[in-house]
Amino acid sequence: MDSLLDLLTNAAARAADHREKVAERPVFPSDVDLEAVRAALSSLAEGPTPPAVVIDELVAAVEPALVATTGPRYFGFVVGGALDAATAADVLTSGWDQPAFNAFTSPAAAVVEDVAGGWLKELLGLPAGASFGFVTGGQGANTVALAAARHHVLAEAGWDVEQRGLLGGPPVRVVATGERHATIDRALRLLGLGAGALEPVTTDAQGAIDLADLAQVLASGSDGPTIVCLQAGNVNSGAFDDFAAAIAEAHDHRAWVHVDGAFGLWAAANPGTRHLTAGIEAADSWATDGHKWLNVPYDVGYAFCAHPRAHAATMSYTAAYLTGQGQGGLRAPGDYVLESSRRARGFATWAALRQLGRTGVAELVERCCALARRFAEQLSAIDNVTIANDVVLNQVLVGFGDDERTDRIIESVQRSGECWMGATTWHGQRLMRISVSSWRTTEADVDRSVAAILAATESS
Ligand SMILES: *Cc1c(COP(=O)(O)O)cnc(C)c1O
Repeated sequence: MDSLLDLLTNAAARAADHREKVAERPVFPSDVDLEAVRAALSSLAEGPTPPAVVIDELVAAVEPALVATTGPRYFGFVVGGALDAATAADVLTSGWDQPAFNAFTSPAAAVVEDVAGGWLKELLGLPAGASFGFVTGGQGANTVALAAARHHVLAEAGWDVEQRGLLGGPPVRVVATGERHATIDRALRLLGLGAGALEPVTTDAQGAIDLADLAQVLASGSDGPTIVCLQAGNVNSGAFDDFAAAIAEAHDHRAWVHVDGAFGLWAAANPGTRHLTAGIEAADSWATDGHKWLNVPYDVGYAFCAHPRAHAATMSYTAAYLTGQGQGGLRAPGDYVLESSRRARGFATWAALRQLGRTGVAELVERCCALARRFAEQLSAIDNVTIANDVVLNQVLVGFGDDERTDRIIESVQRSGECWMGATTWHGQRLMRISVSSWRTTEADVDRSVAAILAATESS
């Protein structure tokens, strides 16, 4: 066991073994002794250790503390799973170890990102001319897109933010609902706009933007540099903003419109849900994740921008020792993201899309939505259980009477190991939050999870 082939084969075999057995292990390792895990990992050796021993030790130590996020009954957050081809491509990505900065550091990574980015735009119904960056996730995508927005709206006001910074420049208005994802706030903090600058817009009962209030908020201030953030797939309910109307209103005020569609943008890739995103192509930037609903392994997200020059102007840089930007007419991946030395995320995305094909992507979205409806139907038949949202996508919010009982039941379900759902507070109520986003989840997994929830309600 000392060749590299043996080492990698062993690692791959263990990963495959985990994935094959993941459906049968407790979904969350409630009973694991984390101090023992820590103790097994804690001694930094004085000298080298053979690689095979290192891997054996790592597996033995952490295996008991793994969460079955690649399994079929993990419904917390919106984690997705990991498609087989994407997982294998990710293993190769590590083996190839390409810094995906430009066509000089890796022509292969530059080409594959170019191709996969084009596929993503097509599947998501975004303009063919939009630029894109393969980022680390939704946070990265929101940050990059809002940086491009900041550049563009200030340039329109005659202010070069890249050269001059924000001090002394015109104020930038940022308008979003109270139900935006917290990564929007963090992006605004990092970009110097400040989370406190947000002008909140109210929402309807499902958490979608209130158009009348949007109009009022926009009219209440100047038509100077303004950014409006919309949401495709409300974090809790899965609701969609009315993009056609909201974008038209925002554009009337010369605002830049950013759409956070970390998981919900995938509705556009499925004919059965595409209507939810109607009008979305008129926005100025879009953020989505690959590691959620597309089922690419962590981590990858995508920032798209209808203004490629603003996108590149805010992200790219040059230095004397750098060559190869735009080499051979090839797009330089590093010009559209925050990182220079970066993982070649394009390989795994390409593999996921290639494995699924157009119909496979649509079917994945459709199936998850159908399974979410199956959860809602079965759970609503249980005494004292209410479904708090319209199940338009893959999200189901479940109440169990009062808040305390709801929390007790969620904890009991989490401890059961049968499945895992998180908790949320939405519109003043504690709720179980179910997200169906893995390719592995079947009707039988939903039924088994409902049985676990039913058992928890009977003992609470
Ligand atoms: C998950 C999520 C994000 C953040 O994405 P990460 O990939 O976790 O950084 C942003 N917005 C929404 C709506 C999300 O669901």
